[in-house]
Amino acid sequence: MARYTGPVCRLCRREGIKLYLKGDKCYSDKCPVARRTYAPGQHGQSRKKLSNYGMQLREKQKAKRIYGILETQFREYYEKADRAKGITGENLLKMLEKRLDNTVFRLGFASSRSEARQLVRHGHFAVNGKKVNIPSYQVSAGDVITVRESSRSSEKFKGLAEVAKTTPQWLEVDMDKLEGKVVAEPKREDIDIPVQETFIVELYSK
Ligand code: SF4
Repeated sequence: MARYTGPVCRLCRREGIKLYLKGDKCYSDKCPVARRTYAPGQHGQSRKKLSNYGMQLREKQKAKRIYGILETQFREYYEKADRAKGITGENLLKMLEKRLDNTVFRLGFASSRSEARQLVRHGHFAVNGKKVNIPSYQVSAGDVITVRESSRSSEKFKGLAEVAKTTPQWLEVDMDKLEGKVVAEPKREDIDIPVQETFIVELYSK
């Protein structure tokens, strides 16, 4: 699956907020968003008030960038969310949240979603005892995500227990066992990304 490979800090500056795409750097004073509060590019410092369409576009771009998804796949998520029962915007965010790479990140096994995606791709995780190396795999309530036996000695997973991280309500983690569990379906209030999903629905339903 294709992914964005350009400079990621630029994406945060474009959205004007931290999207937390670079792991530890995002929590340090090296983060460029704090130092340069304007958008990148020649006209970055002279942007005007956004139109309604502009706001819809920005919210969609933000969600795509936070979860590291390109347009075609994002649109597919939207279409599935629209066909499912319930509120389309919430369905969309819940599907994005339940991706295996995001779940690995939320459990604290990776410092960013992009690192989580790479770890999943490299086959470091099992779901319910079976190796899964598909970042877009959708987890469900009851699933148990573990670091595979063969990966437990990897430097990547050493010292994770010492790094305190807040786990969302829908997940439980045991860092000593390198194991996480999906205890419930995520609710909208569990998803703390700064995106107003109604704008995304408005954009796609035109
Ligand atoms: Fe975004 Fe992190 Fe780069 Fe800051 S350091 S601009 S939060 S990716």
